[in-house]
Amino acid sequence: MSMRLILLGPPGAGKGTQSDVLSRRYKIPHISTGDILRKAVIKEVPLGVKAKSYMDKGELVPDEIVTEVIVDALKSDDAKKGFILDGFPRTLNQAIALDESLSKISSGIDLIIYFETSPEVAIERLSGRRVCSKCGFNYHVKNIPPKQEGICDRCGSRLIQRPDDKEETVRNRLKVYQTQTKPLINYYLRKGNLKKVSGDMDVDELFKVIFKIFEDEHLA
Ligand code: ADP
Ligand code: ZN
Repeated sequence: MSMRLILLGPPGAGKGTQSDVLSRRYKIPHISTGDILRKAVIKEVPLGVKAKSYMDKGELVPDEIVTEVIVDALKSDDAKKGFILDGFPRTLNQAIALDESLSKISSGIDLIIYFETSPEVAIERLSGRRVCSKCGFNYHVKNIPPKQEGICDRCGSRLIQRPDDKEETVRNRLKVYQTQTKPLINYYLRKGNLKKVSGDMDVDELFKVIFKIFEDEHLA
């Protein structure tokens, strides 16, 4: 049985957090374009150099660049049993490229989970998010505070705000989502394998809802 999932939804919907839960539980890789791109930026490899200016402004990185990243990731051995795509596809072109690439290996997506999330919740989560400058672990000033303010519980390094989590950049990311990514909901609804959940729920509650969908769909 395979579990090939796409998590779709606005920035701040909690896709990354839920991906981590699902990835551990089902032992399938969490493939996040945002994480891959951020690592490339830190290492200053060509991919990162190309992507940085778009990311800092909250714009999308061009389709060709991210599509190549994902096609490579899907070829890896650990993606054979399944995968969780988080943050890809984000445009219609990317969705079509993904379909083409999967059809070449006579495979497809089993389920698209759409995280419907209210803008207030998304903005509150993103503006309060802090990340560890070293290990990348996520915190939230109110919801998931570190034991000692500004310091990572796990490794003791300094917590920072992601450059694209500044309020005006967050607004731009939400706008970009509305215009470029939201049309994917209809695209996948027409293909018939999209299920909607509420991204406003807390982590454990939402996992239970997703688990129920897996059961109904005979995925777990
Ligand atoms: P969020 O979902 O919270 O906006 P991500 O970490 O997924 O954050 O993405 C951060 C940034 O990385 C995006 O604003 C964009 O610049 C870039 N990015 C990530 N995924 C894609 C994608 N599929 N297509 C284009 N750009 C992307
Ligand atoms: Zn840390």
